[in-house]
Amino acid sequence: MQGRQAGTALLLLLAVVVAVLPAPSLGWGVDGHLIVCQIAQARLSDAAAKAVDDLLPSDAGGNLSSLCSWADKVRFRYHWSAPLHFIDVPDNECSYSYDRDCKDEEGVKGRCVAGAINNYTSQLLTYGSSSPSPSSKSSSSGQYNLTEALLFLSHFMGDIHQPLHVGFASDKGGNTIDVHWYRRKTELHHIWDVNIIQTAEKDYYDEDAGKFVDALNKSIKGAWLDKVQEWEECAKNQTACSDIYGSESIAAACDSAYKNVTEGSTLGDEYFGSRLPVVKLRLAQGGVRLAATLNRIFGESKP
Ligand SMILES: [Zn+2]
Repeated sequence: MQGRQAGTALLLLLAVVVAVLPAPSLGWGVDGHLIVCQIAQARLSDAAAKAVDDLLPSDAGGNLSSLCSWADKVRFRYHWSAPLHFIDVPDNECSYSYDRDCKDEEGVKGRCVAGAINNYTSQLLTYGSSSPSPSSKSSSSGQYNLTEALLFLSHFMGDIHQPLHVGFASDKGGNTIDVHWYRRKTELHHIWDVNIIQTAEKDYYDEDAGKFVDALNKSIKGAWLDKVQEWEECAKNQTACSDIYGSESIAAACDSAYKNVTEGSTLGDEYFGSRLPVVKLRLAQGGVRLAATLNRIFGESKP
């Protein structure tokens, strides 16, 4: 019995340790991804909504946003997917180039968030093309797992819009820059993944991500309305335009996220107030563009 008690105590201790260890930052936090996917799902064409519904696992209850952090949850099981959440650009280079930057640490080309968006978009374009019989489920095109392709694309479209997911190589997109968010110790990257969104929800939206989504949708249909078509557009009839999204992110990283921040900085009201508009814009653009991409993949028929 003693052995079992000791075992139970050890398990409890392990659970506590796991619970308090900070998770490595690999994307917008849960709320950021949820916001991007909620904005997107409401903008899907009939054809895209039907395909998304078909591809989502039944336990998602038709709700894409419930699985938009799935890609973060599988990063240990699918360790090959870890480099697909971000892009490293050379230090102090405030631009992005696919040929120069989209590679993993071993230099394998295409293994970055932009390459992943292109890859999963191509996979999803096979949807419905090779069902062996009319009665078979279309969640697999034979070659690919299209459910996973949808969840990866939905997640990575969020990540590529987080400015520090296209950041400098030596500080790992701000992950190694230790700062304070008000009185709390954290890293610059985490402030952009989580803290600015959380503080906004606390200060303005009754700690309710849904109210944040409502406010962003109001701006998409109001203040940003004349920009939305431009956000949706892709050059040269491409289906997804990761080059545009990546270039915008490193520009925002330089102009906003990294600006006037050094190791040990304390970031509070001034930083929050001046950077929140950037976070709002990037969440809205991520959502609008995820919908536009899924509509291009599955068909444009408007609801
Ligand atoms: Zn991620």
